[in-house]
Amino acid sequence: MFKEAGPPAGESTNKNDGGSMVSGRTAHARRNAIAASVAALALASCAASPGLPGQGVNVGEASQLRKIVPAEQLEQSSATQYTGLVQQAAAKGQVVAAGDAQFLRLQKISQRIIPQAARFNPRASSWQWQVTLIRSNEINAFCMPGGKIAFYTGLIDQLKLTDNEIAIVMGHEMAHALREHGREQIAKQGLTNIGTQAIAAIAGETAGSVAQSGAGLLTLKFSRDDETDADLVGLELAARAGFDPHAGVSLWKKMTAASKGAPYEWFSTHPSGETRIATIEKNIAAVLPLYKDASKAAKKG
Ligand SMILES: [Zn+2]
Repeated sequence: MFKEAGPPAGESTNKNDGGSMVSGRTAHARRNAIAASVAALALASCAASPGLPGQGVNVGEASQLRKIVPAEQLEQSSATQYTGLVQQAAAKGQVVAAGDAQFLRLQKISQRIIPQAARFNPRASSWQWQVTLIRSNEINAFCMPGGKIAFYTGLIDQLKLTDNEIAIVMGHEMAHALREHGREQIAKQGLTNIGTQAIAAIAGETAGSVAQSGAGLLTLKFSRDDETDADLVGLELAARAGFDPHAGVSLWKKMTAASKGAPYEWFSTHPSGETRIATIEKNIAAVLPLYKDASKAAKKG
């Protein structure tokens, strides 16, 4: 998903020099354990909670499957990868300074949305949230597990995003982290045996092996269902923070126009189109009262 942000060419993403590489037998046992966990979790996964009208989107519970990957380890691995990414960008002079108006604008938007996050994942209240603005023509933005956010100036400048539209993108990306779609994808990869090593590395004993696994957190592809989930949860996060949910429609119309012939990975992982826009449009009514309440409260405060 984030090609340019991956490890340098020639560097294995599954390198594990720490001596903790799992043997075939251990991996087999681990797969059996995983299969057993999944069977147990499948039984517990039918409890979707319908929302009240005007009280937010109805997305049900996050995937139960994700629980086979330990959240702490994933967040730690994510923090290491994020730090590496920011350091790489800084070395190239691409990190927008903290005092820059463009960065302050982004930070202000994040400070309004972050307090809404724990509603979708209680772990979020103890996350060390970080926001980085990277100077690059690329159209991209992400939020890694544990609340590590990055925006690329290309996204904001080329699409001439309003604050409301930035909030919709940020809400969407934060939703991926809060609903733990990365954790879910890694769990799924483990089940199909492709990602057993990734799970083993992430679930491994030492922080070193986790850091070295490079587990591809930046290259994970989310499913269409996860994309819809992130659209809806993101819409609610933005609305609760006092950002107009109608911006979800204008944002994705801009994305549709910008994606024509554009080379960015974002457009293949985030296909824009009538279906996506229609789903967002259909859910505006569910979050509009939250937006109105938040706007009223902001005016009073
Ligand atoms: Zn997405």
